[in-house]
Amino acid sequence: MKELTRKQILITGGAGFIGSHLCEKLLKEGQEVICVDNCYTGTKENIYHLFDHPGFEFIRHDVTFPIYLEVDEIYNMACPASPIHYQFDPVQTTKTSVHGAINMLGLAKRIKARFLQASTSEVYGNPEVHPQTEEYWGNVNPIGIRSCYDEGKRCAETLCMDYRRQHDMAVKIVRIFNTYGPNMHPNDGRVVSNFIMQALQNKPITIYGDGSQTRSFCYVDDLVNGLTSMMNTPDDFTGPVNLGNPGEFTIRELAEMTIEMTGSRSTIEYHPLPQDDPLQRKPDISLAKDALRWTPLTPLSEGLAKTIDYFDGLLKTKGTTAS
Ligand code: NAD
Ligand code: UDP
Ligand code: UDP
Repeated sequence: MKELTRKQILITGGAGFIGSHLCEKLLKEGQEVICVDNCYTGTKENIYHLFDHPGFEFIRHDVTFPIYLEVDEIYNMACPASPIHYQFDPVQTTKTSVHGAINMLGLAKRIKARFLQASTSEVYGNPEVHPQTEEYWGNVNPIGIRSCYDEGKRCAETLCMDYRRQHDMAVKIVRIFNTYGPNMHPNDGRVVSNFIMQALQNKPITIYGDGSQTRSFCYVDDLVNGLTSMMNTPDDFTGPVNLGNPGEFTIRELAEMTIEMTGSRSTIEYHPLPQDDPLQRKPDISLAKDALRWTPLTPLSEGLAKTIDYFDGLLKTKGTTAS
């Protein structure tokens, strides 16, 4: 019976942090997964354990170039997500979001596949509306150092809407808020990975600014449940839909929690706030609750404990050091 309902699913960016968890979940559900990734920020190590699975296939490919495959669904997750990674080669970041979306939407159009775009809370920029609802158009600097990511993702949303309107496709957009968990890159500079790696090594915790800026942190298992719920909505439901955990914490609170949970001797060190760093961020998830029947279940303390275990294991086996 399962054979009849098995779907072929393409996940771009499947070797990355979120993508690798999504590959695993869909394989567990009995689907066939093709992971397309150029390993720019992701790594095969995130998916090695899936290589022996008969339903799994890995293709090293850059989504800014066309690809011809036959699948039922596409999750377009490919794009560097941490500020230091997406600012390293900003032109490539915009190309990945824009050319990548065109190619994957073109593929979806040809083969009539359902398409889900991983967008981001960054489309809201430094928000003047709090918490952020999907109706809010955002406050984004179009020429700053974060623009390659923010504007690339905004343009990808535009492409999604226009492909849907012009070609009557089943397209879905999710706006993902800060997500954390195992398989995050230890040196990707994001706040959760930085703080845990620093705390575990008793190195100073680097707070940018005075630490009063806020973020809402969603555990990765909750997030991928939201992604698959969104994919399974009716064809004519496009969103965009916010996916995130509305629990809001200051960066200083996160630093203190991390020090306490790791039993670290780290001190706190204050550094300048990077340009255009949003001061607050918290999703309004009413639409996700309503349309997807989705709500995040993992409290920050529980998710942090699992993430600390993961990085602790990495340090013990590989001696990876925080930058
Ligand atoms: P990640 O950097 O761990 O994963 C991105 C993956 O995309 C990597 O495996 C990378 O090698 C791959 N990739 C990058 N450019 C590519 C290209 N041109 N062709 C093929 N593959 C390419 O990041 P992540 O945190 O897993 O993010 C996944 C997606 O979710 C991204 O689209 C990101 O914008 C979005 N998102 C993430 C967060 C978050 O907090 N993690 C928040 C908002 C949105
Ligand atoms: N594309 C792809 N695989 C496909 C079909 C299309 O990679 O199976 C890419 C191709 O690069 C194409 C882009 O998607 O240029 C957009 O496709 P679309 O059909 O919208 O436009 P066109 O083919 O006219 O450029
Ligand atoms: N941040 C920090 N110390 C770090 C890394 C990040 O204080 O070592 C801050 C950063 O300035 C931002 C917040 O933590 O205000 C979240 O940063 P991250 O890069 O994780 O995500 P984003 O800014 O994209 O939300």
